[in-house]
Amino acid sequence: MSVTLDPDLLAVAHYDDRGVPVLGRDAEIAALARAGARDLCVARIFEGHLNGLGLVARFGTTAQRACARLDARGGRIFGVWNTEDEDGVAFDVADERLRLRGWKSWASGARAIARPIVTARDADGRAQMLLVPLDAIAVAIDDTKWQPLGMEATDSVRVGFDGVTLPRDARLGEPGDYMREPWFSGGATRFVAAQTGALERLVTETLEYLIDRGRDADSLQVARVAEMRVALETARLHVARGRDAWKAFDAAPDDAHAADVVVAADCARVAVARAATGILERAMTAVGARGLVAPHPFARLVRDLQMYLRQPAPDAIARRIGDTAFAEARSARTIGSARSTATGA
Ligand SMILES: Cc1cc2nc3c(=O)[nH]c(=O)nc-3n(C[C@H](O)[C@H](O)[C@H](O)COP(=O)(O)OP(=O)(O)OC[C@H]3O[C@@H](n4cnc5c(N)ncnc54)[C@H](O)[C@@H]3O)c2cc1C
Repeated sequence: MSVTLDPDLLAVAHYDDRGVPVLGRDAEIAALARAGARDLCVARIFEGHLNGLGLVARFGTTAQRACARLDARGGRIFGVWNTEDEDGVAFDVADERLRLRGWKSWASGARAIARPIVTARDADGRAQMLLVPLDAIAVAIDDTKWQPLGMEATDSVRVGFDGVTLPRDARLGEPGDYMREPWFSGGATRFVAAQTGALERLVTETLEYLIDRGRDADSLQVARVAEMRVALETARLHVARGRDAWKAFDAAPDDAHAADVVVAADCARVAVARAATGILERAMTAVGARGLVAPHPFARLVRDLQMYLRQPAPDAIARRIGDTAFAEARSARTIGSARSTATGA
């Protein structure tokens, strides 16, 4: 896929040393939503670009950060490849170089991006980020099984690193840095923004389709559109809540604000996925089979959204939301009973 990121998107891809977007969280989230409304595949690549540049800004050495700024300005796209199967990537150190082996799966933009951050196990089994100059090395690409339901243009295929060697300073940060919270879980705020942008487009296209065909006064269609609108509003509110939690953390990066970023992102993931499921079903019913044929945009939108909604560990996220709710309730009881004891009430 030849991915191009429009200048208005690239303009927000700048982070300060704390990984805070230079143009602000509002601009970052709005750009992701815009990208999602235009094309969810481009939004996926853009989201990885932001994630990658944010990681370099936070964990990179002065030289790595300067180099990344030049690379980004020169049009090189960043990304993050963490997902792998049993044959994941590991490395050892030999002759002052890192010697890699193994495969990454779901490597979005395998042929389009130049600077993926690849997580790899070191000799002690710890996850280490590596900043890989993909345009300067030879990797294996296996796309034989890449026939997805949607998001095909992201080219999220398997990439093999057997025989690749990198200089020692390709290491980004320390082992374990990639999973540091709230950035790891809170990063979900970016993809829910992109998903919500695609939902905005789907609702708008459905309204246009019904108006064009004079089907906008039918009471069942109006009721269906109302449900879509409510679900879209829910998704928007959760994205805004996630963005605001980040803003509060940026202003005061303490444990309480970090925990709130994670709660807000977790809830947004679940709520946006649920809203999307309702909108998808209603949009397909509203436009019918005729609408689900090209050149109408619905078939592609539906396929891409259904695929992009599949994000890591949805059950574990729902579980964490429930566990946190119980932990908060238990803590409130303990504080309440301590107060009663103290006051003798
Ligand atoms: C279009 C697209 C592009 C992507 N690009 C990238 C990329 O560039 N870089 C990257 O790192 N990743 C990428 N990913 C991968 C993504 O981040 C997730 O890792 C992936 O979508 C999760 O795959 P899965 O749904 O098959 O996961 P699974 O973990 O297999 O989840 C499937 C279901 O099983 C449940 N489940 C999970 N674990 C267990 C368990 N132990 N026992 C029982 N049930 C379980 C889950 O809750 C879920 O319901 C991409 C994904 C997509 C769809």
